[in-house]
Amino acid sequence: MTIKNMNYHLFRIAKILNEHEYQNVIDISKKLTISPSTVMDALKELESYRFPFQHSKSQGYRLAYAITWLSERSIRSKLGSIKEKYMIELIETTESTNTDLVLRSQSTDVELVPTVRVAELQTKGRGRRGRFWLSGLGSSLTFSVMRTLKLPPKEISGLSLAVGVSVITALEKLGGTEFYLKWPNDIIRKNKKIGGVLVEVGKITPLETSIIIGIGINVRGYHLIDDSISLSASDLYSGGINLDRNLILSSIIVELDQVLIQFSDHGFEALRESWQRRHYYENKLVQLILNNQKNLLGLVKGVTSRGALRIEKSGQIIEFTVGEISLREVNKN
Ligand code: ATP
Repeated sequence: MTIKNMNYHLFRIAKILNEHEYQNVIDISKKLTISPSTVMDALKELESYRFPFQHSKSQGYRLAYAITWLSERSIRSKLGSIKEKYMIELIETTESTNTDLVLRSQSTDVELVPTVRVAELQTKGRGRRGRFWLSGLGSSLTFSVMRTLKLPPKEISGLSLAVGVSVITALEKLGGTEFYLKWPNDIIRKNKKIGGVLVEVGKITPLETSIIIGIGINVRGYHLIDDSISLSASDLYSGGINLDRNLILSSIIVELDQVLIQFSDHGFEALRESWQRRHYYENKLVQLILNNQKNLLGLVKGVTSRGALRIEKSGQIIEFTVGEISLREVNKN
């Protein structure tokens, strides 16, 4: 799925900018042999995609910080023993990598190969239950992994939590600090969201389920994301990870591959303890927003072997499955 009306030169212009020197519109138009008005239009469009550049009226445009663009070769070279296992589709832009793979999975009879689809720019990223996921060109990671698991769909519950374990493990190995999970699908730092996971189901047969795992991560520049969410968002950079996005992506794929093996063989139970250890709200008092908009206060007491949240209320344990509720921290003041 490509984006209609996107400036044809958008990525050429984005990639010509660097963090060292300002370049003005005329410089850029000459280098790329395109008109100054095309450059101006593209720069405006880049701004709308939260591209991290700076503008000085007298000097022109430059990057706010160095960006390493995604490269299939670089991603693959860091996959170690699973180097050849995945088809890697690196695209400039799409509405949603998850939507692309779900549609593909549901509309083909051909055997699906393990695939990683990664977009430099995702324009209609999705969250749970119709929510949105925003990303910034050059400062985020947005990708989806498609796999066929030898499990019926009812055995898939808990998978989005398992995926969270793989993301956190990768971030820890990359030297990140204070990253936690928030039930069911958020990756957080200091209670602010740095990433999200969206697991969807594609083609189903009685014994196998094609799953599409979408992951969105704020790499750097969360403040650029949107005024409405910047207060509740953070990024890897704040957590001590200032690395090539190719390396971050490969590291997550490697961990995810391991987690999927464990999940297929033993279910979420095999990852439950790892998940609980990283749950920011474990043993804390939380507020649950239920489907009927009613609130409930309770203590978090882990998750079940299928990924349901266990809440202690008046001495009793109540279980909540993924999809039913949202969890919020109780204001300590
Ligand atoms: P729940 O707690 O029920 O999961 P949620 O608000 O976390 O609710 P998600 O589907 O997990 O829902 O995430 C989508 C939400 O995350 C959006 O509604 C928006 O508020 C927020 N959001 C979107 N993009 C980003 C981003 N790049 N960084 C941080 N937060 C974001």
